[in-house]
Amino acid sequence: MSDNAPPPSVSRRLMLAAAATAPLLGMRAADAAAPFLNTNAPPFYRFRHGVFEITVVSDGPLVLPTLDVVLENAPKADVERILRENRMPTDKWIGPQNVVVVNTGRHLVLIDTGMGDRSKALGPDNGHLIRNLALAGIDPAAIDVVAITHAHIDHCWDIVDARDRLNFPNARVAIAMNDYEFWTQESLLNDPAARDFVLYTRTNLLPVRDRIIPVRDGTEVVPGITAMASAGHTIGHHSYVIESEGKRLVNIGDVFHHHVLLLQNPQWHNIFDSDKAQGAATRQRVAGELAASGTRAVVYHFPFPGVGSIARHANGFIWLPEPIFEG
Ligand SMILES: [Zn+2]
Repeated sequence: MSDNAPPPSVSRRLMLAAAATAPLLGMRAADAAAPFLNTNAPPFYRFRHGVFEITVVSDGPLVLPTLDVVLENAPKADVERILRENRMPTDKWIGPQNVVVVNTGRHLVLIDTGMGDRSKALGPDNGHLIRNLALAGIDPAAIDVVAITHAHIDHCWDIVDARDRLNFPNARVAIAMNDYEFWTQESLLNDPAARDFVLYTRTNLLPVRDRIIPVRDGTEVVPGITAMASAGHTIGHHSYVIESEGKRLVNIGDVFHHHVLLLQNPQWHNIFDSDKAQGAATRQRVAGELAASGTRAVVYHFPFPGVGSIARHANGFIWLPEPIFEG
């Protein structure tokens, strides 16, 4: 024993303690279950499209209590049968919110904004865009353009925060003027059905009136991102064509809400469409064009991250989700 060794009594106590705990330590390393982490997967997905970098950022899901409110002229028995065949709940619709950020190398463009802080009317777990942008490493102050597909609450209510400050202080806002004017008209505040929609739409859109890029079919928002008219869901609904190195990716917003029901039956009416016949016609036109050309699409309410393509199937269409990490 060296001069530096502890006195025998201390050393012996340590050895006894080590011997006593060894079976426990051994069991923990070899047999005990790993703790549950209780954390989610990252709420964003990033891929390349040509030279552009695309990041789909979740705002969290919408939850509506029943499909009766989503589809108007659809036979209930057919709706329930299709949902059961696709292993989906028949009592509620869970709609992801896939906000798209495009970095063209010159501009940073956010397409739609999610629900923001104002309302949990469409489910308890949304309004997370700002938090999730931070997790994705994207600074809201670096956004050059916020491109809005249409002025519904789940697409434009995060332009300002709960204290009415601009969340994207350096961004211009691209939107069709007829959509802007319709969903901010003061007279709708007297309409009980529209009042709640319009109240905070005005709160979000009126402060950016002087920084609007008015879009119509063919408007270039920034080089590589072009608006494409797709009205019906709202009077001024526009999709955005994202094109780099000859590759096209079309953000079709709310042309489709449901990746099974409305694709299989694009003629069914969505109760949220302003013009239901035009909405159905637009669905068939846009899906037909995307299917014929095999163009890649990203869809706001399809299962996260909502990137894939549409193909013809039976009398309608089918969604072909793109495997992630292969983009
Ligand atoms: Zn929507």
